Amino acid sequence: MKALVKKYAKPGLWLEDVEMPEVGKNDVLIKIKKTSICGTDVHIYQWDDWSQKTIPVPMHIGHEFVGEVVGFGENVHDVYIGEIVSGEGHLVCGRCRNCLAGRRHLCMNTSGVGVNRPGAFAEYLSIPVTNVWHCDPEIPLEILSSFDPFGNAVHTALSFDLLGEDVLVTGAGPIGIMAVAVAKHAGARNVVITDVNEYRLDLAMKMGATRAVNISKTSIEEVMKELKMKEGFDVGLEMSGNASALNSMIKNMCHGGKIAMLGIQQPGTSVDWNTVVFNGLTIKGIYGREMYETWYKMTALLQSGLDLSPIITHQFRYTEYEKAFELMMSGNTGKVVLNWD
Ligand code: NAD
Ligand code: ZN
Repeated sequence: MKALVKKYAKPGLWLEDVEMPEVGKNDVLIKIKKTSICGTDVHIYQWDDWSQKTIPVPMHIGHEFVGEVVGFGENVHDVYIGEIVSGEGHLVCGRCRNCLAGRRHLCMNTSGVGVNRPGAFAEYLSIPVTNVWHCDPEIPLEILSSFDPFGNAVHTALSFDLLGEDVLVTGAGPIGIMAVAVAKHAGARNVVITDVNEYRLDLAMKMGATRAVNISKTSIEEVMKELKMKEGFDVGLEMSGNASALNSMIKNMCHGGKIAMLGIQQPGTSVDWNTVVFNGLTIKGIYGREMYETWYKMTALLQSGLDLSPIITHQFRYTEYEKAFELMMSGNTGKVVLNWD
């Protein structure tokens, strides 16, 4: 089968013929229809320090996908041939305290599809049935292919009560923009998002932001004044991984405000801890998605009218992957989808 392989320990990906994946007795074989490109895939493409330490070479990558069930092992009973499925890219151990308590998103022994084991940028993918998400086939395939990052947005955004609250999102990457749409749908009052990229700020406005702020030109304080917000934001969603964005968020939260942090900060980032202490802030780290409460909520949000369609800005056939990755690296995209049919 064809797959996008990290064939050499250097920048790039290579379209190669690889062996079909093995299907163990608890596994489901999926014929991939569409995949989305994640920031992580871009890091692997560019071969940054993290990728060099993490990704085995050669291996095909990718973890955001939707496809069709074409086979399964002897222990699998609750899927059917032809069923449209997506899947959780984090494989958990099932044995640690958190797994046993049903908090699988907090497993201490996760491994990642397309990171630690062969991925979804391929014609076929085999994953354990416990990682399969049964899709509502009414939801468009390109949206289903982005359920993994949509799950990051939903898990982060729904960490704290949003009804009637003022929400600050830092970072208008695809996940920050989806979080804006989720927060508005969940009943937030003002949802302000910051970035330095005008393309993405425009997209955030299309997805329902109250204000999309170019932080290189306008400060958060100015926007708060304009919105007649006197006490600061109630909820913060940090989705940039940028230290100054995090600190500007901490500074502009109300006393007792709550921050959910998805963005991955550089090691050694300095944080204004005394503002956290004196203003009584809560900071919650977010990793991945809840299995499978977040997946359930994603489906329900879409079924109750949340429109994510503007976030899918580009689609390419998988053979044009180089064009797709270059576009992602330009920053002027929402989600970029590869078609495998
Ligand atoms: P992305 O890199 O596409 O988006 C980040 C955005 O932040 C960019 O648009 C960038 O222009 C913007 N930005 C840079 N400096 C800024 C500043 N000072 N103020 C405001 N915005 C600024 O990333 P994404 O795919 O949308 O993911 C969002 C973040 O979440 C990334 O840091 C990513 O690594 C992280 N992430 C974490 C998890 C997890 O499980 N914790 C999962 C997926 C992604
Ligand atoms: Zn575990």
